[in-house]
Amino acid sequence: MRVGRPEGVSIWAIAIVGLAAAVELTIRESVHRIGGQVLPMSLLILITTGLIVLEMLLSRSPGQSRLVAALLRLPLTVMVVAFVELLFGGASGPTVQVFGATISIPRLSWLMAGLGAAICIGASPVQWIALRRALAAAALLFVGAQPLLVALHAPTLMWPPQLDLPTPKTAQEPLTVVVLLDEWNAKAAPPIESALRHAGLSTVWKPVQPVGDATSKVVPALFSGHQFDAAKPCSFSAVCSSDQVLDFGQIQASRPDVDIVGFYHPYCDIRGLRWCYRGAVRLDFTSTDRWRCAIKRRTGWPLGVSDELCDRTIRAKWNAMTEEVLDAVWRAPGWTQGGWMFLHLPIPHPPGRLHRRGLTENYQDGIQRAAETAERMARLALQHPARRITFVFFSDHPLRQALWCVDQWVFSSLGCQVDPALVDRNVPLLVAGNRELPALDDYDTNRDVFRVGLAPESN
Ligand SMILES: [Zn+2]
Repeated sequence: MRVGRPEGVSIWAIAIVGLAAAVELTIRESVHRIGGQVLPMSLLILITTGLIVLEMLLSRSPGQSRLVAALLRLPLTVMVVAFVELLFGGASGPTVQVFGATISIPRLSWLMAGLGAAICIGASPVQWIALRRALAAAALLFVGAQPLLVALHAPTLMWPPQLDLPTPKTAQEPLTVVVLLDEWNAKAAPPIESALRHAGLSTVWKPVQPVGDATSKVVPALFSGHQFDAAKPCSFSAVCSSDQVLDFGQIQASRPDVDIVGFYHPYCDIRGLRWCYRGAVRLDFTSTDRWRCAIKRRTGWPLGVSDELCDRTIRAKWNAMTEEVLDAVWRAPGWTQGGWMFLHLPIPHPPGRLHRRGLTENYQDGIQRAAETAERMARLALQHPARRITFVFFSDHPLRQALWCVDQWVFSSLGCQVDPALVDRNVPLLVAGNRELPALDDYDTNRDVFRVGLAPESN
């Protein structure tokens, strides 16, 4: 009987799939910089190393019995499932429609794993070698194709939009400040409006619909004018969604006096900015509390850490970033020199700064903090009252209570329940200034916020 060609071990294929997953997680972390990929990356390193070691040990067993041959195929099969789970798993994982039923891709991956395992065990050595090559090539293609798509398809954009009208002459360079207060409900507009009036500006506002339910979807839609409903990072400076690509590195400032302060998106990759600050959650790999709380949050496994400690630990890293972003606002040159500023601020975005207090109290505190910040900004701008001052305050989406209550986050341990007073489907569009204010009739969503205030002065 002719013996099949020996198929050898799959170490290189396991390593390639693991490396491809590592590149993808690195891209995601470097685009958003909120530390969300640290745990998946650590798991990936552990799983990949473990499977390579297992494959090496199995390959040393004497004789090529059918059992050993089948076992040798197992580590690569597990690696492929881990690839899908780590990259697409979790509550917000993507879904597909199969015969009218909505199935999440991670759940589908287990189905595919079962099927895959059967194929792997049943395949002939020749088929297995071909399959192994195909799996490694598919993993490489998945990570390699995305930056290629960005390089070929990302449009070059001029931002902020400009009107071809002569700029009105004022005594000093006009100042326009567009402020994104993340997770701000339309119902929570009045405290910020009063603060701006108190500082001496006139105001007008209306509730508008958000064009998406998360920052990751809304901000690319604002910059590109297209929907980004399945937004995900696809290069170190770009976000993709089905056939849409937004590369922040391909956005060109349309004027020389643009300042940005923000977080979560690679705003500072925009070309031609006068000044930019981007906040990031600091990664600390040495804090065992942080590790244990991160694992507890995602798995529910207690690990001997108290909710109280995890509340403090998780809150601390987010709040440190919030403080840094708010500090940067006051350093922007626009306050003295005039120009155009875009500020994406992590307030009233939970978790907030009140330790061991509920979502409602923290949200109200966040609104109060936003109001104080708005008033301070207005007073700073009014130190040069001869210039035209326009503020546009808006939000990307309302408060996501369900997410904050259930997601193994600080509030779930406090018995978080949805507060009807904080339920909202709209976000505010609020304009404040020291001259005549623009009409907001044409705005029903937050998509065109960068155009608000571009209309010429009527006087
Ligand atoms: Zn947001």
